[in-house]
Amino acid sequence: MEAVRLQGARVLRDAQGGDARALLGSRGSSSSSSSSSSSSTSGRVRLPLRRSKSRLSVVALDAAQPFDYESRRMEQMHKESKLKVGIVGFGNFGQFLAQRIVKQGHAVLAHSRSDYSSLCDEMGVSFFRDVDDFCEEHPDVVLLSTSILSTEAVLRSLPLQRLKRSTLFVDVLSVKEFPKTLFQQVLPAEFDILCTHPMFGPESGRGSWNSLPLVYDKVRVGSGVRDERCQRFLEIFEREGCRMVEMSCAEHDRFAASSQFITHTVGRMLGKLELESTPINTKGYETLLDLVQNTQGDSFDLYYGLFMYNINATEELERLELAFDALKKQLFGKLHNVLRKQLFDVGSAATNHAVAVASTAATVAASDKISNGSGVAASEKISNGSAVSQLTLVSTVEEAQGHQ
Ligand code: NAP
Repeated sequence: MEAVRLQGARVLRDAQGGDARALLGSRGSSSSSSSSSSSSTSGRVRLPLRRSKSRLSVVALDAAQPFDYESRRMEQMHKESKLKVGIVGFGNFGQFLAQRIVKQGHAVLAHSRSDYSSLCDEMGVSFFRDVDDFCEEHPDVVLLSTSILSTEAVLRSLPLQRLKRSTLFVDVLSVKEFPKTLFQQVLPAEFDILCTHPMFGPESGRGSWNSLPLVYDKVRVGSGVRDERCQRFLEIFEREGCRMVEMSCAEHDRFAASSQFITHTVGRMLGKLELESTPINTKGYETLLDLVQNTQGDSFDLYYGLFMYNINATEELERLELAFDALKKQLFGKLHNVLRKQLFDVGSAATNHAVAVASTAATVAASDKISNGSGVAASEKISNGSAVSQLTLVSTVEEAQGHQ
């Protein structure tokens, strides 16, 4: 029997297109439709229909529906809107996403290189050690959350033939052009592709996801039910209040290199300084400490992936280095001028004069080292704990003593 809607009545038509009956629910049937019926037998009303080849007749059911009819229908609709999401790569970020997806009532299964069985039990996720078993569960969505570096190997190792003929593949990698090209190369044409990047992580999205950006690119999504499936997946983020940003993968990578990669680089650089909280922290300093904490929580693989798999990252790293050198040059240039003024200031004490000469020489030498590209030596001194100013002071005093 095939069910179709006909002016508020539920019509059941047999597969041959022969006899058909419309069942009017207590809500759907109106008194006028009942009164216009040609015959009525204990709640069943036969409605006159235009004669057609398929001899369509409608029967209304006035009998009350089960008391829980509405709630059952709601439950059915609810079930239909839920997805079966299979996460591949159940590390830091995979777990973070799974928590919210489970909370929204979707069925979540996972597969990963390591065994996360007991954690998954606690989280209400079905864990599959065997990738064949995972695929044979036929998830609607396969969500790839592996490290950027391992993505290609992991994707190529999936037995795609065991999945549903049409499956939606989603990635959450922090770079976007790379998975887009890879998916297009590896996945069969019937599979849909959605590239996403939640611009937050377990630290920054610890509480609410409200207003946090979710970048996505519907790289290859079919129409009809396939598009609806993709939409339902995106709704997971919408419901959490994310700011949905549709953007091409190439555009994402351009923006991300000058924002995310720089953020991670600066955070990791400051991390190497082993900054500590002090009793007189300024707000700015607190922000730096937060940045270090935020970025160091991520694996080095992730950071390396940002560099290696975003074509714009090398240029950004060079720009950062140039900016740092330019800033140092600006500082030493200013100091140079002050000392030069002292040098030619008539009436200054002989010692001052000598100190100034020596100091200028030392400062210029240090600043030249930086600007000549042999900044490595100078910066090594900085990282060795002997800041250039200290270096300058020592050599200044020594040389001044020589002058005297
Ligand atoms: P990650 O270090 O980038 O990735 C860890 C995941 O990759 C784990 O599931 C791990 O599996 C798997 N993996 C690593 N090497 C593997 C290999 N050789 N073979 C198979 N699997 C391997 O850390 P993550 O934070 O969980 O990030 C996962 C993905 O999410 C990355 O692509 C990242 O760019 C993206 N992302 C992360 C954040 C974030 O804030 N952390 C935000 C947005 C997007 P096992 O655990 O089973 O070993």
